[in-house]
Amino acid sequence: MKIKKNIFTLVFLFKNLILKIVFYFSCYVSMAFPTKKSTLSRSHTRMTVLEWCERKYYLNYYDFDLKKRDKELWQENIILKKIKSLDMRIGEKSHYLLSDYLHVFKNFYNERKLNPALREEQIQNLKNKMKAEMEEEFNYSKQLDFTDTEKFFERKIGLTEHYYGENIDDQLPLAIEKVCGNLDRFIQSTWNKKIESYFEDGEKVYIETPRETDFESMRVDLNKIDGFSNISVLAAPDFWVVHSDYDYLILDWKSWKEDILQDGISDQLKLYALKTLLKKNKTSLEGMKFEVYEVYLNSMHAYGGELQQQDIESIIQKIQQDVEKQKNLLVDRDPEKNIPVDPDLFSPSLSDKKCETCTFRAVCKKFFK
Ligand code: SF4
Repeated sequence: MKIKKNIFTLVFLFKNLILKIVFYFSCYVSMAFPTKKSTLSRSHTRMTVLEWCERKYYLNYYDFDLKKRDKELWQENIILKKIKSLDMRIGEKSHYLLSDYLHVFKNFYNERKLNPALREEQIQNLKNKMKAEMEEEFNYSKQLDFTDTEKFFERKIGLTEHYYGENIDDQLPLAIEKVCGNLDRFIQSTWNKKIESYFEDGEKVYIETPRETDFESMRVDLNKIDGFSNISVLAAPDFWVVHSDYDYLILDWKSWKEDILQDGISDQLKLYALKTLLKKNKTSLEGMKFEVYEVYLNSMHAYGGELQQQDIESIIQKIQQDVEKQKNLLVDRDPEKNIPVDPDLFSPSLSDKKCETCTFRAVCKKFFK
């Protein structure tokens, strides 16, 4: 009994050291004994970064190449990869808060119906919790020494603006207001009422939990499409309802302003539907119904509609085009080798405005010619 207790005490005392050893050992094993061929990954975020700026794409996804060329800059870059601007945090926290609210809404549906006061109390508690979370993280980031990599990686949070020494204290209350405002608008919208009716009718409802990314459940099984076996695609909608085996509603929340040219059904929504179809071993919409919408939280405008077969064909084509675009930046266009072309062949953004606020600007300026 005493020996057991001593072992537990030792494990507790050296838990950080043990975790580090396990982490480095698993890295060593995966490098020394690769188990599968490299595949090309495609995700909405990855393609957005590529379209935004090829250099940003290199610094984000090919930093193992940067490590070989300049270890010091690579050290700096691994921090830049993790930090986010305040605007990005607003988007992230809006998704968290809405997901938290929908989970509470779902789990306490009957209690809230019997006691409407509970509803207000729960909403206020969620908002208070979010306010405290944002304030705590903001203050933590503000006092952080970003040159202390080990300290940074204890929590991996920080704001781009603080990294570059900007004083943005006055922007924090506004950021909290925006996040809570997004939830308030949602609660007052017809979407909230519709969702209430799904709970009421006992429909199968799925709510994404963005605080815990589950890459396995995000994977789209493209092996079932000829020629797509080496492509890894990740996608997960924020909310979906299964009315029946052949009737789905898919929703995705957007926290930024909609494009004035916004029209039709986005590629992301088409991909979510394709993922569901592939789970049924098909790519045909025959006998199936998908209603899909992107809902913009700052206006509550929704864009989308009922999917047609041509939408499914177009997303399959789009994945193929995206993969070809990514291959252009690889030596011999070979995803298996996965070696990026010379970094100076990655084009910079042509927009000064993008560079002025870009998280990677410190490393970008020093590294690229
Ligand atoms: S600073 Fe400009 S060119 Fe460099 S990565 Fe950022 S957006 Fe691209």
